[in-house]
Amino acid sequence: MTHLEIDQQGTPPVIAGLWTNSDEVIGKQPDASPETELDRFPIQEYLPDYFYGFHNNRIYNFSSNENLFRQYALYGGTCHMLISTRGCPFTCSYCGNAAFVKVYGRKVRERSVSDVIAEMREVIKNPYVLYMNFQDDCFFSHNIDWMTAFCREYKKLIKLPFIVRVIPSMMDREKLLLLKDAGLCWIVMGIQSGSDRVNYDVYDRRVKFDSVKAAAEIISETHAAPFYEMIVDNPYETEEDMITTINAMASVKKPYICSLAHLTFFPGTPLAERAAKDRIAEPDAYLYRYLLQIDETYLNKLLSITPNIPGSLVRWLNLSADMRKPYHDTTLNILYFIVKRVIEPAVFLFITMRSLNYRPDWIYRTVIGNWKPTLSRMVSRYLGKSDLEFDQKLKLAKQKMPELFEDNPLDPP
Ligand code: SF4
Repeated sequence: MTHLEIDQQGTPPVIAGLWTNSDEVIGKQPDASPETELDRFPIQEYLPDYFYGFHNNRIYNFSSNENLFRQYALYGGTCHMLISTRGCPFTCSYCGNAAFVKVYGRKVRERSVSDVIAEMREVIKNPYVLYMNFQDDCFFSHNIDWMTAFCREYKKLIKLPFIVRVIPSMMDREKLLLLKDAGLCWIVMGIQSGSDRVNYDVYDRRVKFDSVKAAAEIISETHAAPFYEMIVDNPYETEEDMITTINAMASVKKPYICSLAHLTFFPGTPLAERAAKDRIAEPDAYLYRYLLQIDETYLNKLLSITPNIPGSLVRWLNLSADMRKPYHDTTLNILYFIVKRVIEPAVFLFITMRSLNYRPDWIYRTVIGNWKPTLSRMVSRYLGKSDLEFDQKLKLAKQKMPELFEDNPLDPP
């Protein structure tokens, strides 16, 4: 018997980390300890030969049909997404990490510099890859020695612009300068709320807004392109919290791009459990709402354009519902229309060019490589559609493939 076979008594083999179903008897196998030697895993390919996709009612192999792959790939397939760590030092109450730490612990595990570089050396053989997009929850979890070795090798062997993510309180000037010198262009920073009360009491996220402002100053100094993420539509947030958030974001060093996401209660997270107890969220609501589809409320719209209008105008508009007059709504709607369609794309282009040190070859390659996805996003925005029409696709999938959505017997009642 190999270790994967069920023996004659029907006893399943012990494979840590699995659940088994043997003659309707559900069994939990021992927990698997987290792999600490991440270099043992094969490197991730850019377009593996087992990559299939659904197009015009047919399944295609994308690796033998690269043009089709690029039609569907994020950013037209110009970015290779990779990770150099597993885990996050934080456990925010809405985030999957708050559930994962129960299984994997809190320790952030990292790959060696040589392993990460080896992956990228393979990937850059494809001429369409223009950017490396590090998906690590916080790239700054690496210590300074790792970072120094990484930047040295990256500059020598990869030489492409890249994108990383940072938690504001983990920003480190020395590391950021090293990264910028190695080719960092965009830096994504989760801020979530400008209210310390919301970040501490609701999100269990111990980041004071002062750290956000300090991190933004450092980012601005390096001319990396800042992309700041916020969470809205939070039923535990008061109107006053939202007003505080808008004022706080108006005080952050500009220019930056502000991205809003709808608070999504993912199963297994502490916030989803709290929301279920408080009966304010359906347990499967996360299935039916694309998280970038936010409520088009007055304050959400104002937050979204805050980086692109003068602070005095933000303060004039930043009022509670009972203080607002019809002319506030009219002004906001006009500004929102102009900022989203004209000013924000222009700022986006400017900070991208600046982050590339105005190098004409990179600007040219970025514009040429991304014109199709950018155009389709702009058209979607003009038509008032979300990028992926996620909600409609999910509804359709549920109609056509109900078996995929049947209640799981292992789910808690
Ligand atoms: S810092 Fe980001 S990735 Fe880490 S737990 Fe919080 S939301 Fe999740």
